Amino acid sequence: MKLPREVIIGKNVLERVPEVCGELRLGKKVLIVTGETTYRIAGGRLASLMNDSFEVEIEKIGEASEKNVKNVVDISKKIKADFIIAAGGGRVIDVAKLASKIVGIEFVSIPTAASHDGIASAIASIKNSRGVTSRAAEPPIAVVADTEIIKSSPYRLLASGCGDVISKYTSVKDWMLAKQVKDEEISEYSIAMSEMAAEIIVQAENEIPQRGEAAIRKVIKALISCGVAMSIAGSSRPASGSEHKFSHALDILTEKPALHGEQCAVGSIMAMYLHGGDWREVRDALKNIGAPTTAEELDIDSRLIVDALVSAKKIKPHRYTILEHLNINKDKAEKAARYTGVIE
Ligand SMILES: [Zn+2]
Repeated sequence: MKLPREVIIGKNVLERVPEVCGELRLGKKVLIVTGETTYRIAGGRLASLMNDSFEVEIEKIGEASEKNVKNVVDISKKIKADFIIAAGGGRVIDVAKLASKIVGIEFVSIPTAASHDGIASAIASIKNSRGVTSRAAEPPIAVVADTEIIKSSPYRLLASGCGDVISKYTSVKDWMLAKQVKDEEISEYSIAMSEMAAEIIVQAENEIPQRGEAAIRKVIKALISCGVAMSIAGSSRPASGSEHKFSHALDILTEKPALHGEQCAVGSIMAMYLHGGDWREVRDALKNIGAPTTAEELDIDSRLIVDALVSAKKIKPHRYTILEHLNINKDKAEKAARYTGVIE
C-alpha cells in the first residue's frame, strides 16, 4: 500500500512547497503542470517560489486527455525532470499523476479546489476516444492544500467535493452487498475510513456553506481520507460504487455533463433508495450544503438520468452493485428517479 508521505493543509502553505520538496529529496529539476486559470491562482506564484532552489519548467494543459498525458511524459523525459508538481484542479492532477507514473518519478499534488477525491488517490480519470477511463497511477508523495487558494475557488467546486464524499455511503453499501452475494473480499479498514469521511461531511452540512477555515479543512481531509481508503483497499471499491457508475454513464450520454461530485451525489440519492437505506438523509445533507439533488439542478435531461441509471451496468461490469443486484431496467430506474424527486 502506497500513501502520501507528507500532507500539509492550511493558510498560505503554498510557501512551504520548496521546503517540503527539499526535505523529501525529490531532486533539482521540477516540471510544474498547471492550467491556464490555475496558473494565475497558484502555478505562477509556485514557480517563482520554487525558482530559488530548483530548476523549474512549466507546462500548462487543458483537459485530462491521453494526448496531454503523453505531452507531459515527453517534456518530463526531454528536460530529465526529477519530479512533477501538479498545481491545479482535477484535470491537472490526473494528468500529472499518470504521467509521473509512466516516467517513474514522484509527483506532488497541490489542489486549487476541493472538488473530488482525486487529490490524493492513486487513480487517474483520463479521456480517450471511448470516453473517460480510470487508470491506475501512484498516489502523490506529498499533498499541499492551501486553504486560502481553495477558499477562493468557486463554491460549486467545494459543494461538488462534498457530494463526492457523501456518495461513499452507497459505494460502501455496494461493496458490502458484493461481499454478501459474490463473496467479494472487503477491507473493513477502508470501509470505515470512507464511511467516516461521509459522516464528517454530513455533520458539517450547515457549516460548510459559510466556508470558514475549519469547514474547508474538513472537506479537504475527507477527500484525502477517501484517497487513502482506496490505497488501503488497493482499488477504488471503497469510493466508487453504483453512484459512480451512474456518473460515468452520464459522462458518456450527455454532451455537457455536470461536475463529477455533483453527478455521483445525485446517483447516490437513487442508489440509497434502491438499497432501502435512508436516501432522504443523503438528499437533505446535499441540499443543506448547496449541491444539486435533481436532474434540473444538474441541468441534465430527465430522460438521460433514467438512461444513465440503466446503462451504468455496462460501466465496469465486473463491479457488482445494487444496479446489477436488482437488474435495473427502464421501469425500475424511472421509479427510483421519480420517487426520490430526482426527476419530476
Ligand atoms: Zn468520485
